[in-house]
Amino acid sequence: MKNIAVILSGGSGSRFGGSLPKQFTKLAGKAIIEYTIDVFEQASNIDEILVVSQTHHIERTWEIIKKNKWSKVTKVITGGKERFDSTYSALQALKDYDEKCKVLFHDAVRPLVNHTIISNCVVALDQFEAVDVVISSADTLVEVYDDGCISNIPNRAMMRRGQTPQAFRLGSIRLAYQKAIESNRYIFTCDCGVIRAMLPHTRVATVEGSERNIKVTHPMDLFIAEKFLQAGNKIAFIESDSLLPLKDKNIVIFGGTSGIGLEMKNIALLHGAHVEVASRSFNNVDICDLESVKSYLIQVNERLGRIDYVVNTAGLLIKKPIDTLSLDEISALININYTGAVNVAIAAKPYLVESSGMLLNFTSSSYTRGRAFYALYSSTNAAIVNFTQALAEEWVTDGVRVNCINPERTATPMRTANFGSEPPDLLLDAKDVALTSLKVLSSNKTGIIIDVRKDGR
Ligand code: C5P
Repeated sequence: MKNIAVILSGGSGSRFGGSLPKQFTKLAGKAIIEYTIDVFEQASNIDEILVVSQTHHIERTWEIIKKNKWSKVTKVITGGKERFDSTYSALQALKDYDEKCKVLFHDAVRPLVNHTIISNCVVALDQFEAVDVVISSADTLVEVYDDGCISNIPNRAMMRRGQTPQAFRLGSIRLAYQKAIESNRYIFTCDCGVIRAMLPHTRVATVEGSERNIKVTHPMDLFIAEKFLQAGNKIAFIESDSLLPLKDKNIVIFGGTSGIGLEMKNIALLHGAHVEVASRSFNNVDICDLESVKSYLIQVNERLGRIDYVVNTAGLLIKKPIDTLSLDEISALININYTGAVNVAIAAKPYLVESSGMLLNFTSSSYTRGRAFYALYSSTNAAIVNFTQALAEEWVTDGVRVNCINPERTATPMRTANFGSEPPDLLLDAKDVALTSLKVLSSNKTGIIIDVRKDGR
């Protein structure tokens, strides 16, 4: 008895100005639908995935599936004019499946669904024939007449906002659709609505959804989804909690002689990785000089035969009013923090293409807002975030992942030099940041900014 996810991607709507439907719009380097399918592919209680697409996007959808090497997607079928028709098309494709199968219909444009929601739906189907995913509403909902005047104000406490997945025992949703078609009733915005109208004695249970599980509909939603991806990525991002995948991997860490870089080196070595570190003081590698970075990596690659990960933790913080910085300080701040990252990326690319590896950058929480007295540090950190996102998108077809760690205030020599000694309970331990960063290396995600917070959120 299988648990099947149906990803509804048959909509044509594009409110983002592009020619492609919104499920193919890029979000942090990947198509929205890629995130969506990936969540179900990684869900342990989903056995098979079926995608419903517009006919002329079937090929594009298969390309995405092949690129991601997903194994659970068995069919990409043609949808219909309305969502109802797309669901019906999926039911036709599932006509030989046992009626006891659990089937979860999910909007392709809800990329931030999570495993808890999926698993709660699957479990609820042990007791119910139909399950909806809902969240409470902070806004009061009002019902209106055609002329816009209010006809009813339902009690907000009893109101919920419906999301997806919507989950059913196959036999029930099949029967409801058959009855709807027999009685020519096609106007439904969701599948639980079909059950309610056609099988009124069937109870539809609800499970708690999430504010993050948004339906990307308007341009602003892309911005919100991107922010959701960034915030709390520590949980969402890391598929595996283990550092085992690091064994026998070759890691190059620029700036690996102190602070977070040094901690990464120590932990990676303990887990069987081979680590090379580079810095101006240690081996005369100057990230501000492209040739210096290139010749260092040539030499490392010749010695090791492969470079799997390149990590750039090098950074410079000088806390002073901007007009008191010397010219040398200004150029050092810009060159180490930004030009250096550009040089490392350019020099590392050929090796990372070869190994299908990852470039990992570092930013700081000041990237979201410029900070007085360290304007160059905060603005170059903002540039790093933007640079990471751009490269992730540019290198996706090369199989190279690019991500960025955003640690909160961390106890490092650089921090102490600029902020003096601060209460230790306010600061992240560099070891914790290093641990999270190393876990990120074995993730298959790209274009993500991973927040590392003291409270572990
Ligand atoms: O159109 P709406 O916003 O309700 O779309 C919700 C989801 O249903 C989207 O993922 C969309 O691709 C899908 N859909 C579909 N077939 C249609 C219309 C919408 O699969 N004819």
